[in-house]
Amino acid sequence: MKYALVIPDGCADEPQASLGGKTPLEAAAIPAMDAIASAGVVGRANHVPEALPPGSDVANLSLLGYDPNLYFTGRAPLEAAAQGIHLGPNDSAIRCNLVTIEDQSMRDFTAGHISTEEATQLLATLQSELGGEHLEFIPGVSYRNLLIYRGGKNPPPFTSDTRATPPHDLTDKSVLDDYPRGPGSDFLNQLMSDSVSLFANHPVNRKRREQGHRPATNIWLWGQGRTPAVPPFVQIYGKRGAMITAVDLLRGLAELIGWRRIEVPGATGYLDTDYAAKGRAAVAALAETDLICVHIEATDEASHEGNAPAKVKALEEIDRHIVGPLHKALAAQGEYRLLVTPDHPTPLRTKTHSHGAVPFALAGTGIVPDTLRAYDEIAAAQSKLAFVEGWKLMRYFLGS
Ligand SMILES: [Zn+2]
Repeated sequence: MKYALVIPDGCADEPQASLGGKTPLEAAAIPAMDAIASAGVVGRANHVPEALPPGSDVANLSLLGYDPNLYFTGRAPLEAAAQGIHLGPNDSAIRCNLVTIEDQSMRDFTAGHISTEEATQLLATLQSELGGEHLEFIPGVSYRNLLIYRGGKNPPPFTSDTRATPPHDLTDKSVLDDYPRGPGSDFLNQLMSDSVSLFANHPVNRKRREQGHRPATNIWLWGQGRTPAVPPFVQIYGKRGAMITAVDLLRGLAELIGWRRIEVPGATGYLDTDYAAKGRAAVAALAETDLICVHIEATDEASHEGNAPAKVKALEEIDRHIVGPLHKALAAQGEYRLLVTPDHPTPLRTKTHSHGAVPFALAGTGIVPDTLRAYDEIAAAQSKLAFVEGWKLMRYFLGS
């Protein structure tokens, strides 16, 4: 049996006045996803336990079949794993976003989607001015970078009580009440403060301003944690997996659970990603793996920008270039199962992730169809199939 999981990140949403009272999933023309709903079942699952933050980290850990209450330690350690960075027992990884803060308001948590090349130069300045034996600033992709704290013989100052707000939760809001607090926060706040003067007249920012782009005014530190002890997927579920994604977080998850990572040229993690290239790579991977997972960030990005038409368009591209070809290829090769589901809702209204159930559609060998015919939030709400603990959906999907 072959398995495919397609994750349109954050695609679950609310009815939109601008879409005639429909949700983006309802408004989009997604015949391939609706075909899965028709041939199989629609249900809903909750991937973010109430006590944890509604991030892609927690939600995707659950989606991949791991109880986040047991295994989640923070976002940054997952991204460190993606980059092959080894964390010792007294080390912590911390997300180091490049952001634009104006008038104490989070104008842009991506610093205008700053390029990786520009980010690398800013990180080099941070390393030479603030880095050292205990601190490594490590460039990632665009605004998503890392700070590694090397504790050596002493544990890091951060604990599970250290609070740091994800910058994408602060879009267009005041940041004054959301600087890190709790154990180790003085240290984080000092670094964030130091970055302001280092960046103010940095050549990268001077050039960005000249070109009419948003400067990276600050670093924003959050998502700190140590490496989680996660058992390999094959050990728990008996299947080999492979991951296609443009986002370090998902690469890290794949690395931690022992999945192969497939890099696709043209996959950007943004609205301009090469959907067809991802679809082709997924189809090609079916021959070599039991389970192929395709993660697409574009739907989530559209919500962060509050852009309903872009979200609808991203769904239609995913449907046409990824879900459709995958379903066709799966059906042609023999026994299969195909699951489409986001990780968490990202409502256009709030421009950020939220708790709550997401709709899924599942079809394939041995799945007895229900009466629901469309893949959207409305159909899912009518379904009797619901996973309050979303991590249990994986076992249902694999049919074991
Ligand atoms: Zn997400």
